[in-house]
Amino acid sequence: MSDTPSAVRHYGFAGAGLSCAVIARELAEAGHRCTLFEARPHVAGNCHTERDADSGVMVHIYGPHIFHTDDDEVWALVNRYMRFMPYVNRVKAVTGGRVFSLPINLLTINQFFGQTLNPTQARAFIEAQADTSITDPQTFEEQALRFIGRPLYEAFFRQYTLKQWEVDPKDLPASILKRLPVRFNYDDNYFAHKHQGMPEEGYTAMVERMLDHPNITVHLGQRLETSQVGQYDHVFWSGPLDAYFGHREGRLPYRTLDFERFDAEGDVQGCAVLNYCDDSVPFTRITEHKHFAPWETHARSVCYREFSRRCGEDDIPYYPVHLTQGDDVLKRYQALAAAEAGVTFVGRLGTYRYMDMDVTIRAALDAVRAFRAARGA
Ligand code: UDP
Repeated sequence: MSDTPSAVRHYGFAGAGLSCAVIARELAEAGHRCTLFEARPHVAGNCHTERDADSGVMVHIYGPHIFHTDDDEVWALVNRYMRFMPYVNRVKAVTGGRVFSLPINLLTINQFFGQTLNPTQARAFIEAQADTSITDPQTFEEQALRFIGRPLYEAFFRQYTLKQWEVDPKDLPASILKRLPVRFNYDDNYFAHKHQGMPEEGYTAMVERMLDHPNITVHLGQRLETSQVGQYDHVFWSGPLDAYFGHREGRLPYRTLDFERFDAEGDVQGCAVLNYCDDSVPFTRITEHKHFAPWETHARSVCYREFSRRCGEDDIPYYPVHLTQGDDVLKRYQALAAAEAGVTFVGRLGTYRYMDMDVTIRAALDAVRAFRAARGA
């Protein structure tokens, strides 16, 4: 049932990924008109999924996306549009020609060091390797040396991170490594959140359902130009923050990804994600997509080798590159964005944040609620 708004307003959206879909749905249910412009031929942004015609496998076209959250409201929201199937991400990692379990857990530690330690012994063993002179780690490298010590850092993180970011881990913030837990038990769940799962029919179907509302219109293959912003009562912009301002303060750096697809019969690697942590190969990981849907059976398999590189002007931006020093350009864009009264910047690209899907949805909910409260919309 719709609220009856005091005045029906017309909102424009640049993008039709998770952020804009969540915001448009909320505003549409409040009775407002929402028009979305999506440059790509599909909704759902980089979590877009497509069933491969040949194998029947649901492919994560822009790389692996696993939904995990501690946020009950966000979990309820996604489940309103799609059934989530049980899925636990159990990543494996190759380093020095051997396979280990990730995130670092008791099995990783015992296998890597050839030990049979119990949790208490393992904690003491790792602490003895840690650099305890680092009291307040700021960088990726300091975080690693403080909490896992040099041997595990060198084996699992240093070279993978150089491949992923092309930045020395000394210049990356500790927050990137803090994404990964370190465990002194045999729990090998990559994520430490209470909810985790995969949308039964893929993320794109989920976002299509969010956008399936009489007050919402989606234009695929079209951009909202900045010159059109004034035609709307307000605009929600999920495109790159620097692009909105014509890159006038310079370009914000992003990483883009290249996927080299290969198809095969049967089971190629036995798990969904296999990381390649050393520099014996140029790619960071191989994703075998059918393992993301363990409730389905497919004879053939679709795999992606994933390569990371600096994002050029015509590439799809994936990861914002935050360094420990020098986010001055970003600060200038943030000041410009704050002064732009008719536009709210949202999402990973619009706010230049390395956000997981659940954090993206939470931020979108908070943004639309703050907007409605401030404007009485
Ligand atoms: N990382 C690493 N080795 C690994 C996995 C991750 O060094 O085997 C580092 C790398 O710097 C990466 C970061 O940890 O960018 C965060 O990893 P996550 O798996 O969260 O990355 P995502 O799946 O978002 O690319």
